Amino acid sequence: MGPGPSEVPPSVLRIMSAPTLGHLDPEFLQVMDEIADMLRVIFGTKNRLTMPMSGTGSAGMETLFVNLLQPGARVLIGVNGVFGTRMAEVARRCGAEVITAETEWGRVFSPEDLAAKTRGQRFDVIALVHAETSTGAAQPLEGMRAVADTCGALLLTDCVTSLGGMPVELDHYGVDAAYSGTQKCLSCPPGLAPVSLSARAEAVMAKRNQPVQSWYLDLGLIAKYWGGERAYHHTAPVNQLYGLHEALRLVLEEGLEARYARHAENGQALERGLQTLGLSLWVEVEHRLTQLTSVRLPKGFDDMRGRHFLLENFGIEVGGGLGPMAGQVWRIGLMGHGSQRSNVELCLRGVAASMAEQGLPVPKMEVL
Ligand SMILES: *Cc1c(COP(=O)(O)O)cnc(C)c1O
Repeated sequence: MGPGPSEVPPSVLRIMSAPTLGHLDPEFLQVMDEIADMLRVIFGTKNRLTMPMSGTGSAGMETLFVNLLQPGARVLIGVNGVFGTRMAEVARRCGAEVITAETEWGRVFSPEDLAAKTRGQRFDVIALVHAETSTGAAQPLEGMRAVADTCGALLLTDCVTSLGGMPVELDHYGVDAAYSGTQKCLSCPPGLAPVSLSARAEAVMAKRNQPVQSWYLDLGLIAKYWGGERAYHHTAPVNQLYGLHEALRLVLEEGLEARYARHAENGQALERGLQTLGLSLWVEVEHRLTQLTSVRLPKGFDDMRGRHFLLENFGIEVGGGLGPMAGQVWRIGLMGHGSQRSNVELCLRGVAASMAEQGLPVPKMEVL
């Protein structure tokens, strides 16, 4: 119940032990096509260029930046947590001029905040983290396309923790490029990074005058394997892709609306329970993620002792705070298959017990 990897359903683990097909076997090519189709549904897009990259979520991040940027490109990045900070670092390593919009960790950006930074100047990319796992904040995407249009920029989003846990709707929000990871709300082991790029992003890549600096992450080459030609680029992680296929199938079998509603209900039950215990939440109510909750630790509570207690006595792992939130919060994940009422209840009992173990007063908690 930390910030990922999340619990993996048994059928995903089982299929990953099926015999390894060749990466050009016709049956495996069909698995690939179905993965791309299911990803389009969950990303909410018709984008042709939609596939999982070999590597974790950060490889998805790097893929988008190395393919969309050339040295001298201008990038505006919203930094309000670990992953905005990481995007800025990756973009800088691509030789881009990086301008950051910054706000406190746990807060989010409005279109006006970004417009105040762009001031109508030309930008190549505007990048935001849709679900900041380091803080528990949900970044609204409404109105961001219009800001990108005023400066001719592509709109890029980190959807690692949003995909499969809340609506992503790339086409509706006019997002040109998005990446995700498998081990958060898709509930698949780590190791793949779904990406999706719009026709507008493809046009930008087609106009490059330098080859993509990373051969391994070059989408032009990889698209030839995932698209028509089936040209070998690198050996696909075959069994990992079986697992993703099953994980995506489970998402669609449950139904997107039902899945998002389940995440919302369980997340809100956790929030209510934590507040009943007298604890307060880091992120303001309108921008809270329900798949990742940052709860403030009470005064006098020992963070590491509490986390050890929870793991030893309840078998629950939660995340600690990062950056300016270090030592101040726990990050509790209810992602994908892990978003279950029984987990909420067990976790609340565990948090209460760990407070009691440290001699802190614990209110009665029938209201769940
Ligand atoms: C987990 C995460 C990443 C990084 O993914 P890795 O799989 O750890 O490489 C990037 N962005 C967000 C928002 C994340 O939660």
